[in-house]
Amino acid sequence: MTTTTTTDTATAVAPILGTEVARRVEQACARCGGTDVTMEAAVRWDINSQEWQVSAVYDKSAYCGGCSADVSVDERELAPTPALATYTVFVRQANGQGTTHVSAHEAPSLVEAERLALAETAADWNDDVDSLAVLGVIAGDVELLSWDDDSWS
Ligand SMILES: [Zn+2]
Repeated sequence: MTTTTTTDTATAVAPILGTEVARRVEQACARCGGTDVTMEAAVRWDINSQEWQVSAVYDKSAYCGGCSADVSVDERELAPTPALATYTVFVRQANGQGTTHVSAHEAPSLVEAERLALAETAADWNDDVDSLAVLGVIAGDVELLSWDDDSWS
């Protein structure tokens, strides 16, 4: 790596922020369109992670493995993927009998978390999804410390 490169030509690496829907891109060779491209970057030792962290990417120095040449790079937008959230879902039998099934799911939506919980409960109880009902949903994963079904039977 050359030492003559200044930070004026560098692109600051932005931290990844928790957004609703993460924007995704790919970096592609401007000549052949391939994604076998590498960039020169500066790294800085991070004492907390005990790893080299990229502190700057030099956008003037892309190399394409497909072209075996120095090339410029185009950024191409990809279809966004929905951010996943964790839901804790409580499921009971639709007839109100029996115990409560509690499970945590990573899902893009509440509806999808309920669908996953009903499917897992049906599998665990060897039951049919149609005979089950969602009792409630809590955002995030929880740790059950105590559960007493006997008081209600
Ligand atoms: Zn190329």
